[in-house]
Amino acid sequence: MPATTHRSAADLVAAGLVPPEKLIELERVAARYAVSLTPEMGELIDPADRLDPIARQFIPDPAELDRRPNESVDPIGDDPNSPLEGIVHRYPDRVLLKLAYVCAVYCRFCFRREMVGPGRRRALSGAALAAALAYIREHPQIWEVILTGGDPLILSGRRLRAVMAALALVEHVKVLRIHTRVPVAAAALITPALVRALAASGKATYVVLHANHERELTPAARAACARLVDAGIPMLGQSVLLRGVNDDPATLAALLRALVECRIKPYYLHHGDLAPGTAHLRTTIAQGQALVRSLQGRLSGLCQPAYMLDIPGGHGKSPIGPSYIRAAPAGPAGESFEIEDFNGGRHIYPPGPAAG
Ligand code: SF4
Repeated sequence: MPATTHRSAADLVAAGLVPPEKLIELERVAARYAVSLTPEMGELIDPADRLDPIARQFIPDPAELDRRPNESVDPIGDDPNSPLEGIVHRYPDRVLLKLAYVCAVYCRFCFRREMVGPGRRRALSGAALAAALAYIREHPQIWEVILTGGDPLILSGRRLRAVMAALALVEHVKVLRIHTRVPVAAAALITPALVRALAASGKATYVVLHANHERELTPAARAACARLVDAGIPMLGQSVLLRGVNDDPATLAALLRALVECRIKPYYLHHGDLAPGTAHLRTTIAQGQALVRSLQGRLSGLCQPAYMLDIPGGHGKSPIGPSYIRAAPAGPAGESFEIEDFNGGRHIYPPGPAAG
C-alpha cells in the first residue's frame, strides 16, 4: 500500500514520528494549526533525534501555542495591500495571485498559517479568479505576476493550465513566478504534463523553490527540479532562516551549495516572520547577519542569497544583510570609503571623480 500523508497528531504517532505520550498536547496544537507531512518528508525524519531539522519544520510543537504580543495573524501585511480576494498589490510593478489555500505540507513557521489549511476552500473560486485576472488585465503597470498561496502547484494541471493560459494573453505581463514547496514535499506531482503546462505560457516563467535544509533535496526532489530546469524554466531558491534547522554556517552552506548544484540560484534567505506561535523558530537579526557574514567569500557568489526582512505592516521587503562599507574620514580629494574584505581586513577605497 502506498504511504499516505500524515494529517493529524494521531497519524504522526501511528507512524512512529511522535511518542504516544505526546499525543494529547500535539492534538491541541493541531486543532489550532494545520498538520500535513508527506511520506517523503516523513521518511527524512529520524524519530530518535530530538533535534531533527526536518521534524522541527513539520511536527507540531506545544511552543506554537505561546503567542507573543508582537506576533500577528497577518505578519507581512497582505490584507492592507489586497484590493480584492486573491490579489496582493504591494509594489507597483507586480502582484501576488494567491491561487490556493492548501499546501502539500504545513510548515510550523508559516507566515500565512492563519490563511492556509483544511477546513476552508481549497482554492480561489471561479468568480474570484475571474475578478483577480480582470484586475491584472486592467492594471498595465503589472509586469510580473507571482503565483502563490498556499502552494499553487498542488492544484490540478487543468486548473494551472487555465490560469497560465489566461495570463499568457495579458500583453503587459512579461514574467510569471511560481512559489512552491512541491518539488521537495511531493516531487511526484511535478509531472511532465505539469511542467508542460508551466512552460507553455510563452512568458518568462520562473519557479521559486522553498527549501530550508539540504536533506529536503532528495534524489526525487532533485529529479523533479531537473524536469523543470530542463524544460527551460529557471529556478530560484528561497529559504527561511530557522532556529535549530539551518542557523549554523555549515548547515546553511550545505543547503545553498545543494541548491546551486541543482541549478537553483539561492535568491532570498528570509528572516523569520512574526507569525503567531513561531518565536521558538526565529533567530535574532544579529544572528542572521553573523551567519550571512560567515558565508561571504567562503562560498561561491552563486550560493549567496539576499538576507531579507518583510517589514511588519505590509511595507514590503528590505535587505538586512551585513554591510561591508562605511565612510572613511574625508581627505583633501573628498569622501572615501572603508571596505571590509571577507577575512575582516579593512581597505580604503579612494574618492570618486570630483563633480563638475
Ligand atoms: S508551503 Fe509555504 S504557504 Fe504552505 S505552509 Fe509552508 S510556508 Fe506556508
